[in-house]
Amino acid sequence: MRGSPYYADHEAFIDSVRKLSQQEIAPKITEWEKKGRFPNDVFSILGDAGYLGLLISEEYGGVGGDYKLAGAWCETFGELPSVGLTVAVNMHSLVISHGLERFGSAEAKKTWLPRAVKGESIGAYAFTEPGAGSDLARIRTVATKKGSRWTINGSKTFITNGARADFILVLTKTDPSAGYGGFTTFVVDAKAKGFKVSKTLDKLGWHASDTAELVFEDVEVDESAILGKIGEGWTQAASNLNWERLMLTLTSLAGARKCYEAATLYAGQREAFGKKIEEFPVITHYLSEMRRKIYLGEALAHYALDLLHSGKDCKTYVAMSKRFMCDEAVWVADKAIQIHGGYGYTTEFLPERWWRDLRLMPIGGGTSEIMSNIVVKELGR
Ligand SMILES: Cc1cc2nc3c(=O)[nH]c(=O)nc-3n(C[C@H](O)[C@H](O)[C@H](O)COP(=O)(O)OP(=O)(O)OC[C@H]3O[C@@H](n4cnc5c(N)ncnc54)[C@H](O)[C@@H]3O)c2cc1C
Repeated sequence: MRGSPYYADHEAFIDSVRKLSQQEIAPKITEWEKKGRFPNDVFSILGDAGYLGLLISEEYGGVGGDYKLAGAWCETFGELPSVGLTVAVNMHSLVISHGLERFGSAEAKKTWLPRAVKGESIGAYAFTEPGAGSDLARIRTVATKKGSRWTINGSKTFITNGARADFILVLTKTDPSAGYGGFTTFVVDAKAKGFKVSKTLDKLGWHASDTAELVFEDVEVDESAILGKIGEGWTQAASNLNWERLMLTLTSLAGARKCYEAATLYAGQREAFGKKIEEFPVITHYLSEMRRKIYLGEALAHYALDLLHSGKDCKTYVAMSKRFMCDEAVWVADKAIQIHGGYGYTTEFLPERWWRDLRLMPIGGGTSEIMSNIVVKELGR
């Protein structure tokens, strides 16, 4: 990506992100993957360097950057071989904090954003429930009004940063009879009475990232916890999810590039039958297919990012690009394992971790099937 005209304005930024990632984070990743959790220090390191406030205005300690800067971040930070870690950070800084700034009350922003930007308070976003993932409209978490306060009851699952979060954006139903106008998001303090982390989940990949089930039992919040107005939760969720999907796409793109890089390197070193394996046509074909998919994914993702950056409707292109790149990144990681032969199946080489980690990308933030449905629906209009 260095030298790409797409991020020509951000070359120095890309270099400094890469330097910090390689020096401060990369050397410890394997240890954290084994331990099953990366430390909160990662947030502090990134906060101190100013990287958690890319989309946050200066008023709250951020740098007031735009989506293109955030895109350059995703593609660079996403080179780290721990997708659980990179996405956990991006969810906190690019999706949750950004969503809170866009829709939150002045009081909530003042409470959470300055600390979020420094990495002192961590955020989570809770949409999914045990009985409602793709079909989000079926959520059962409710918020009911009692005087000037609201009481939240329900449970959420698969929540990234859920076990370590200090604040959680929670999608609830405030009026089950009002259709899409009956949803409201609240920001909940994890210290609130009635909130608890009921379980952390073991997973195929994303080992360094915590994924949790959360319970809200008569959790009371006041009006300042409402994001925007009552009934705006669905529209806000759609908007936040759109950007989240692009963030996941750009992260997958970065992972696919690293797999391609590893496979090319290995194919140029490993010998069999008296030749480098890169000299076998079938291996060259794999490599050229990997590169083709990466270039196509990059073109689509950058087109969607351009639309978002210029404030245009980009839902169809985001869905198209997520469907393509998140699926193909898994294919690319799989071929990287294949090119590494038996070593590819061992933890000594990175492709196996990339494969396990990237495997979530066609599921999280809206599955590939849901992305296809969006494209079909929009094209049919
Ligand atoms: C590690 C991890 C981290 C996550 N982080 C978060 C988070 O931070 N916050 C959060 O809220 N959620 C999070 N999620 C949840 C994630 O977004 C959901 O898992 C995802 O949206 C799919 O929902 P589901 O698991 O309920 O699958 P389901 O919706 O039950 O889908 C099962 C299958 O049916 C298919 N399907 C469903 N409906 C249709 C349809 N209409 N047409 C075609 N096929 C369909 C799906 O594509 C899928 O293949 C996370 C999940 C994981 C595993």
